[in-house]
Amino acid sequence: MPEGDSLYRFAERLRPALLNKEILAARAHGPGPVPRVAALVGATCTSVRAQGKNMLISFDNGLVLRGHLRMYGTWHVYRPGEPWQRTEHDVRLVLEVQDAVVVNFNAPVIELVEERALTVHAPISQLGPDLLDEGFDRDAAFRHFRQPGLAARTIGEAIMDQKVMAGVGNIWKHETLFRCGLHPWLTVGELSDEEIIEVIGTAQQLLRASVGKPNSLMARGRPSIFSYLRGGQPCRRCFTRLRSAPQGGDIRQTAWCPKCQPERPGQTVQPVPRHRALPVRGRAFPH
Ligand SMILES: [Zn+2]
Repeated sequence: MPEGDSLYRFAERLRPALLNKEILAARAHGPGPVPRVAALVGATCTSVRAQGKNMLISFDNGLVLRGHLRMYGTWHVYRPGEPWQRTEHDVRLVLEVQDAVVVNFNAPVIELVEERALTVHAPISQLGPDLLDEGFDRDAAFRHFRQPGLAARTIGEAIMDQKVMAGVGNIWKHETLFRCGLHPWLTVGELSDEEIIEVIGTAQQLLRASVGKPNSLMARGRPSIFSYLRGGQPCRRCFTRLRSAPQGGDIRQTAWCPKCQPERPGQTVQPVPRHRALPVRGRAFPH
């Protein structure tokens, strides 16, 4: 799933193609609600930016396109006439300027919003501080983690809550918690202030490293993967076999190293392996 760092890179790619260019043609396709992008023809693009996992493309007529990729969406930039790498069937949005064609494939959310309404528009106005923003507000993110309503949630779920802080998806959830030595099923209330501050700082550094921004983790390139999609494989640090179990509403498995991210005595939430989480046939109340 594209996370904040992927969206940042998509914006970097789209910006030179669209910025200060007039839209010559625009079309959008379902499934789902289809925005009236004909309103963009003749308008000039004034900014292209990623906010959390959202792409925001603004125009001089006061409109802004918001795209959210969820699992399978992607953005491509082509020269006019260049063959596309995906089929017309997957096209959700096409923006044509004089020397480029920007195509969105498979995004479940493409909508047209008035720029002045963006600050009250739910998905954007509810976003927490963006980890890739130069002015990222660490204190605000910390306060969001410490909201009373979040204390009982597991850190594995809370770290991906875009209202707490924006940018972390499943990959950087795994890698942040591994580096912080935190079991993903620890609740936010079970973490010390120092541990929450370390979670925020590590997530920020990993995302920055991933997009090539200055960071304290590494000079260049994407950070190493320790736990994402590695359930059942040996830990790259201690060689213990990584465990995995479903977490939250996510259908995918969350993996962790039982030695590097140990369960704590008295920990209130433990992972439930998938086969035990399923209802037992023939019993109304499985125990
Ligand atoms: Zn380990």
